[in-house]
Amino acid sequence: MIATPPPPPTPAPPAGSNGHLPHDETILGGDPLEYISASRLKSFLTCRLRFYFEKVMALPKPLGPSLHFGRAVHAGLQHYNKARWRDGDRSETAVIAAYEKAFDHPEHNQPVAFESDEDRNTLRAKGEPLLRAFLNTKQIAPEKKPMGVELSLRAELPSLALPLLGIIDLVEADLTAVDYKTVASTPDLSLEAWLHEIQLTTYSLLIEEATGEPSPGNELVFLVKTKTPKVISHRVPAPDQVQRDRYARLVETYANGVANDHYYPSPGMHCGWCEHRSECSAWKGGAA
Ligand code: SF4
Repeated sequence: MIATPPPPPTPAPPAGSNGHLPHDETILGGDPLEYISASRLKSFLTCRLRFYFEKVMALPKPLGPSLHFGRAVHAGLQHYNKARWRDGDRSETAVIAAYEKAFDHPEHNQPVAFESDEDRNTLRAKGEPLLRAFLNTKQIAPEKKPMGVELSLRAELPSLALPLLGIIDLVEADLTAVDYKTVASTPDLSLEAWLHEIQLTTYSLLIEEATGEPSPGNELVFLVKTKTPKVISHRVPAPDQVQRDRYARLVETYANGVANDHYYPSPGMHCGWCEHRSECSAWKGGAA
């Protein structure tokens, strides 16, 4: 069924972070056809109506504690990699200080939905051992300077219906894109590679366009916040032609769907962590 989105519950939703995005896209709202990113594409394909609430209307919602924690850990990792790049202070003290600063000062002063001060403090205390585990891992090679940290890339590719945009956590000297994931339990690596195919294909396409070199593949680094924290690295090959063709078709599906306002709910397991269920339940559909 072709359907239109519901009328906006607020007349002019502000742009800004709503706490649901990977950091490849921090400004929400605006024209969804201006560019495509991994987070836009994945959100649209998961549930078009949630995409509409999150990315088009940018409805403000409190930040979930797990996402806030992940962002703060990311700030510590970012400090570490920038210090590698600039020969700065990459000591444990400096990395943990960057984490604590980010934890204590959420971006844009966005409220975080902690259940209590005790929950907040318990979560905050998990960052230090997790970052220590990261710094102790042998997977890190500090002597090698990265190619870029928080690298923002844009590409206009003939194969894609829209310009492509992405911000990559880390690009190593050999052009491997590295993406950090903070997770609660030991990941199933082949499943994770499958789940993050859109993100990793995005990175490979952006790096190839920027450098003119073939992507050597990408790396997912999981920081597992178990009682004894651990760090697991998983190398994923560059996308093959089937994956590239599939990606182009998905971008085309996005462009056509957005151009025609084809937003409708897709109930599933993901509804369990959707913060737009009240808006969704008010949706009545309608012909385009
Ligand atoms: S509750 Fe489920 S179906 Fe409704 S918008 Fe959220 S994810 Fe989509």
